[in-house]
Amino acid sequence: MKLNYTIDCNHCGAHTEYSSTIRYPNMSVEDVERKMHIDTECAMRCPVCRYRLNTTEADFRSQVHVTREA
Ligand SMILES: [Zn+2]
Repeated sequence: MKLNYTIDCNHCGAHTEYSSTIRYPNMSVEDVERKMHIDTECAMRCPVCRYRLNTTEADFRSQVHVTREA
């Protein structure tokens, strides 16, 4: 199972997509989003400018979109 991330950076305007293997197969996309947002030790950053994407939940939701692929 894979998670596909689409990042629209508000800082530099870069549009980036990447995917990763899901570590918790029973977690829904909503659970993953919640975990990524609250996991402050694991800052999500724009791959282009390194600007932090999950400083606030609103920042996260406006810049990062997650979909799941079976
Ligand atoms: Zn950026």
